[in-house]
Amino acid sequence: MKDKFYENRKIILKGLVVAISILFIIRLFYVQLIDERYVLSANNNVLRYVTQYPARGLVYDRNGKLLIYNEAAYDMMVIPRLVRDLDTLEFCSLLGITPDDFIIKMERARKYSSHKASVFEAQIPKDSYGYIEEKLYKFSGFYVQSRTLRKYPNLSAAHSLGYIGEVNPREIEKDPYYKMGDYIGKSGIEKAYETELRGRKGLKIKMVDVFNREKGSYLDGRYDTSAIAGNDLTMTIDLELQEYGELLMQNKRGSIVAIEPATGEILALISSPSYDPNLLVGRIRNQNYPILEADSLKPLFNRALLATYPPGSTFKLIGALIGLQENVISVNTQYACAGVNAVPIKCSHNHRSPLSLLEAIEQSCNPYFWNVFKAVIDNPHYSSTSSAFEKWREYLLSFNLGKTFDSDLMIEKPGNVPAPEYYDKYFGKNRWRSMTIRSLSIGQGELLVTPLQLANVTAIIANGGFYYDPHIVRAIKRKGIIETLSYKKKETLVALRHFETVAEGMSRVYNSESGTARWYADTEILMCGKTGTVENPHGDNHSLFIAFAPRENPKIALAVVVENAGFGSTYAAPIATLMMKKFIQREFEKPYYEARIIETNLLNK
Ligand SMILES: [Zn+2]
Repeated sequence: MKDKFYENRKIILKGLVVAISILFIIRLFYVQLIDERYVLSANNNVLRYVTQYPARGLVYDRNGKLLIYNEAAYDMMVIPRLVRDLDTLEFCSLLGITPDDFIIKMERARKYSSHKASVFEAQIPKDSYGYIEEKLYKFSGFYVQSRTLRKYPNLSAAHSLGYIGEVNPREIEKDPYYKMGDYIGKSGIEKAYETELRGRKGLKIKMVDVFNREKGSYLDGRYDTSAIAGNDLTMTIDLELQEYGELLMQNKRGSIVAIEPATGEILALISSPSYDPNLLVGRIRNQNYPILEADSLKPLFNRALLATYPPGSTFKLIGALIGLQENVISVNTQYACAGVNAVPIKCSHNHRSPLSLLEAIEQSCNPYFWNVFKAVIDNPHYSSTSSAFEKWREYLLSFNLGKTFDSDLMIEKPGNVPAPEYYDKYFGKNRWRSMTIRSLSIGQGELLVTPLQLANVTAIIANGGFYYDPHIVRAIKRKGIIETLSYKKKETLVALRHFETVAEGMSRVYNSESGTARWYADTEILMCGKTGTVENPHGDNHSLFIAFAPRENPKIALAVVVENAGFGSTYAAPIATLMMKKFIQREFEKPYYEARIIETNLLNK
């Protein structure tokens, strides 16, 4: 009984397989020979395939302020084979082009294909569109396709937003989604989130008579697909802070990177000088790009992510952390800064000697930190200078120095953390000791960091030892649902307990009566900072400052670099202070130095 039951099931199953196979064969036959879609493509002449371009996703700042939206524009399309009896002069005057332009554009279209549509004139603004559309029936072979152009209402954050442009052959080859004349994100978040922002193109098939008149949809739009709008993005940027930072940095070369320590969200990313992002939209992009590119102030160059500097004295904080972790110093360790200790790296300050770790941070004492470095590198616990140095290097890498982040910033320089092999090659194997490479102890020599890395180091200290890769987009809205992007929590090789010591030192930089940023101490917010001045072989020193606030539950950590500005405390420190006040208090009584900062022009130095 049971056997028979299975026997029957077997037969039914076999029958089912055969039936499905037959269905597949019929379907295949249908698709290849009978399907109307096949007929459709064979009749290209009378049917017009009009791409439906989706609206690109909108972009908001962290508080919901609109940063990028779309504006309607129109492309004049041409199918060269269908162009006949054209009144060229009338057509040219309609479009506002010369007969020479016409010949060039027509040549280009023919070169692409004489029977396929291509863009004749791109991005006709909406105010001239109505007039053109009215006359279009006179010109066979031409039709208009609607597009959208990006608009940037705030003239701010140009580098982070990026721009879009026409796809190039390489991009088309990489992703068959794109066809000639399509737009693609070329830089910034437009590039990083291209697949989210672009949406999906649709297609409308229209019937056209010999007079270039549209005669409705083919088969009532049975094969039409509609475009699907791109996904909206919420950035981590705080527009108000971003704009304020740009104001403070006007007429200066340099950058500000501000991070929310608890999340790794970038609150402001300023590279100065910058440019109006609207200059790189649509038809004017081709004229403006070369001008910006040739500008000696390099407005297109994103200094915040691509410029590398020696970290200078800001690096002393990492030196202290490594010394504490390696157990070669404690918070009570004292080093003298006079006598034999006054050489080879001198102290430029006037303070008591010997001094302790916290005092050394507060006053940025050079001899203190080369002594710490010496204790780490010449530590007898390691078998060689090289292996001690390798360990020192690993600490730096754990602060994400010498490498790029794993996030949505499209372009980044890794900076430089030299490997022992570099010095082996330079000085010879076993021929170098801590004092040979002592300039590293004060953040000079071969060490190079980006402002972004420096801001992240500050966020790590603010957090007491951990970080999230700094990133610029917080959430994506997909099908109406907002999804927050998540990043992994990372720790350094330094134990959490040591960070409190360094934070205390940074607090003294502002709040002790001999701290190097004492002039900017705030009465309402407890701030922590560290100055740095970086020697610049090409001119005046660069001014560096890193800071976070408030001391407890920090809301903002940042790095400020002002090129050719002299001491760190002259420009970078007050700029950092103002940025922290702006973010934490929004409205505040302007300190006396705000006007000085805004008015200073350092571009001619
Ligand atoms: Zn000193």
